Amino acid sequence: MIANNAASPRQIAVFGGTFDPVHWGHLRPVLDLADQCHWERIHLLPTCAPPHRQQPEVLNTHRLGMLDAAATLDSRLYVNDWELRQGMPSRTLPTLKHFRERCPDATLVFIIGMDSLLLLPEWLHWERLFDYAHFVVMPRPGYSLDDARPELKELLAQRQISLTELSQGHGGIYIAESTPVDISATELRSRLSELTECPEFLPEPVWKYIQKHHLYGVG
Ligand code: ATP
Repeated sequence: MIANNAASPRQIAVFGGTFDPVHWGHLRPVLDLADQCHWERIHLLPTCAPPHRQQPEVLNTHRLGMLDAAATLDSRLYVNDWELRQGMPSRTLPTLKHFRERCPDATLVFIIGMDSLLLLPEWLHWERLFDYAHFVVMPRPGYSLDDARPELKELLAQRQISLTELSQGHGGIYIAESTPVDISATELRSRLSELTECPEFLPEPVWKYIQKHHLYGVG
């Protein structure tokens, strides 16, 4: 696959999530995309959950600690605590506005998984998000565009773009061709306490952090 934006510093990749914990299902597809698109930096942005929703199992400091551990794997990974510092539930629109204000000339790319894309029409001000960024969607086992609701199918008909079109502008949706990784944080959390060795779905530095701090009932 060809990207026309080799080594462009003008693309900013932003990847938000609960990261409770961060795992290879998050990182592998994103690093594949970074290779393909020549991203120099991927902002890993842990989100702040609204009070009425399920809270992360571990403290924010530990979610950040695990992300810091993951970031030692690749110099392009950059842990950004901006949403946590806002002290209020995270919304994508203010986040994208923040990046736009800080980097007015950059092309913003916001990364989500296929499960998140299928729920996009439920996000607050979802149609306005495209005024600020392109969306990149990572395939995820068990989630298919076939299940998209009609308004999402219509949106894709208007906005789906190719990899090469990601390098400029905003408002497109690129469905990545990365290899799907069959792991979820929910499943990991339920299994971690039974493990004595680093599971294949978790980067070793993240596993070491979990062990050191006895997170998720480990050790
Ligand atoms: P859970 O498994 O409990 O639903 P999660 O890992 O999906 O948790 P987040 O950490 O919030 O939850 O995910 C951050 C982003 O990564 C979301 O956009 C989600 O769709 C995406 N994502 C998570 N796991 C995968 C995966 N295995 N493949 C592709 N995308 C994923």
